[in-house]
Amino acid sequence: MPKPHILVAGGGVIGLLCAYELACAGRTVTVFDKGEAGREASWAAGGILSPLHPWRYPAPVTWLAQAGMRDYAALCKVLHAQSGIDPEWIPSGLLRLGEDEADEALAFGARFGIPVEATTTGRHRHLVPGVADGPALWLPEVAQVRSPRLLQALKGTLAAQGVAVHAHAQVERLLWRGNRVAGLVVNGEEVAAETVIVTAGPWSQAFLADYGLSLPVHPVRGQMIRIGSVPGLLKTMILQGSHYLIPRRDGSVVAGSTLEETGFDKAVTEEARAQLHAFACGLVPALAAFPVTHQWAGLRPSSPEGIPFIGEHPELNRLFVNTGHFRNGIVLGPGSARLMADLVLGRSPFLDPAPYGLERGGRDTRSASGVLY
Ligand SMILES: Cc1cc2nc3c(=O)[nH]c(=O)nc-3n(C[C@H](O)[C@H](O)[C@H](O)COP(=O)(O)OP(=O)(O)OC[C@H]3O[C@@H](n4cnc5c(N)ncnc54)[C@H](O)[C@@H]3O)c2cc1C
Repeated sequence: MPKPHILVAGGGVIGLLCAYELACAGRTVTVFDKGEAGREASWAAGGILSPLHPWRYPAPVTWLAQAGMRDYAALCKVLHAQSGIDPEWIPSGLLRLGEDEADEALAFGARFGIPVEATTTGRHRHLVPGVADGPALWLPEVAQVRSPRLLQALKGTLAAQGVAVHAHAQVERLLWRGNRVAGLVVNGEEVAAETVIVTAGPWSQAFLADYGLSLPVHPVRGQMIRIGSVPGLLKTMILQGSHYLIPRRDGSVVAGSTLEETGFDKAVTEEARAQLHAFACGLVPALAAFPVTHQWAGLRPSSPEGIPFIGEHPELNRLFVNTGHFRNGIVLGPGSARLMADLVLGRSPFLDPAPYGLERGGRDTRSASGVLY
């Protein structure tokens, strides 16, 4: 008998990684995206494989981050081999400027087995030429990926696995029988399935509100710029406050990011461009000689404390949700997808799912369509 079909609503990094995990487990999966899959926040991301200032986050974020930090190198190798596209996983390390929070950072490193060293920028001049002297924290094992390449590699791998990823496929509503999901309505057509996973990033909240879930997930805009510099100018990622620099393999340097409450407005602004450029050139003066070649923005799916919602609807069976990864969806992606697959397939979960439960969000008792749950 063929295995029942699983539908994924939303083809960002979370939806694509869920599809990948489930396809690896032998399940038939179809992904729908209202635009091009992987062109929203996931595409915009810097691709730093660690939360910024990781000691500030609650343990449930760190547990998922640890899974990502551990698994990305091997995952990127597989995706590269399957798709022919290199996601450019690079263990470039992260230099965090400033001595404040050193105690918290060192205690965090010791607790979670993540190397953190109190140091000075002077000791890292070979990695960051021209940087002013001062105290710093060095996280040598923090790696990066190039997010647009990661997404392309994931899509190529899914195609090789026989997973259909449909673009311009708007998921309009759920189908259900009794208290059980029966499929989706996509672009006006019914698609039957026994399981649905909602991975619609900041759009998840509005979709799920119709089915009695009110998750506190909303969009937070982030803007980035790319400076067309040359290989070798900067060799490590640098973090100061909420801004950072990421050196890519081709020598370009990405500077990010802003945190803005602008609803679903994804426009870029001159102000952010100037602010990010001034930050980059202030830290690494040699960057002033190179042009800004790109500017873009994405909408992060925020959540309280950055802890994603991963679980099954409390009353509508086989409706699963995986969203709210806020600033860390790339690094949290592999762990979140594995936990989701564990729950969908009834496997023993690799992490206790309780901290990610949907109940944290509160529930409406009446859906927008008037159906009571
Ligand atoms: C500027 C910036 C920098 C970042 N840097 C990092 C970083 O360095 N490291 C890191 O780990 N994270 C980073 N992030 C965070 C990360 O990008 C997000 O947490 C992550 O991409 C969220 O993935 P997602 O799949 O949930 O959402 P999305 O990428 O938004 O994907 C959701 C998808 O669902 C689709 N969709 C929505 N509604 C529907 C519907 N009704 N029907 C069909 N499809 C639908 C959308 O079109 C979209 O493609 C950054 C984010 C930004 C904006």
